Amino acid sequence: MKLVRYGEKGAEKPGLLDGDGRVRDLSGHVADIDGACLTRAGIAALQALDPASLPLVEGTPQQDLRLGACVGGVGKFLAVGLNYADHAAEAGMDVPTEPILFTKWTSCIAGPDDDLHLPEGSTATDWEVELGIVIGDGGRDILMDRAADHIAGYCVINDISERDWQLRRGGTWDKGKGHDGFGPIGPWLVTADDIPDPRALRLWLEVDGHRHQDGTTATMVFGPEEIVSYTSRFTTLQPGDVIATGTPPGVGMGQKPPVYLKRGQVMRLGIDGLGQQRQKVI
Ligand code: ZN
Repeated sequence: MKLVRYGEKGAEKPGLLDGDGRVRDLSGHVADIDGACLTRAGIAALQALDPASLPLVEGTPQQDLRLGACVGGVGKFLAVGLNYADHAAEAGMDVPTEPILFTKWTSCIAGPDDDLHLPEGSTATDWEVELGIVIGDGGRDILMDRAADHIAGYCVINDISERDWQLRRGGTWDKGKGHDGFGPIGPWLVTADDIPDPRALRLWLEVDGHRHQDGTTATMVFGPEEIVSYTSRFTTLQPGDVIATGTPPGVGMGQKPPVYLKRGQVMRLGIDGLGQQRQKVI
């Protein structure tokens, strides 16, 4: 099942994508696609609905129908750093022996196709296509072999990053990770039952048609279940929390010389089975 949030920014409604790629309105059943409906029980209730019985929403998603981030009311937006060995190498850093966790401020969350405003004073804004985990049932100290039960589904995330602010402005990475618009999430949340092997997904990103990233989740250092289990030792995971799981090689910082985003450029990115995003840099 593919869940979406559609409509104007700040006024998105819940929906699901039917077999023809059209949006069906879920607002008669749930208030939002958020933690309240992403528990196992909540998803089971949505899966019991017949899409044909739901009102059809006018417009073609991602063309004349805007999609918002596919999860609303996100309490925590976490991310794992350097989770692909070949990306760690291009960043000039060691492969971590345990997951690096950092926070993306939730105010950075954007729709999958929203324009990216280059922040004032930014000279090193970069891209990172990533597999996103959406938490269903919450918990803490989640055992590895139970972690899959806590994953509602998966989505595409662009972990947009200002490298100077991340690495050279002191302290943690967070300054370069949380600017408004730095967290496009979507286009849709695909429930975990439709992604039988999250470690076998191709993920890619292009800037103005040039393919910079072309990787596979098979080369992740720590897989989704390990990330969920590990993270839950430090914080209680709550329904609707989102975790970005790291990026494959090919970021701008890794080019020689480094290449960063300029106004007017267009990013396109996608993951097998999870859809595509498109952001214009303005
Ligand atoms: Zn990242």
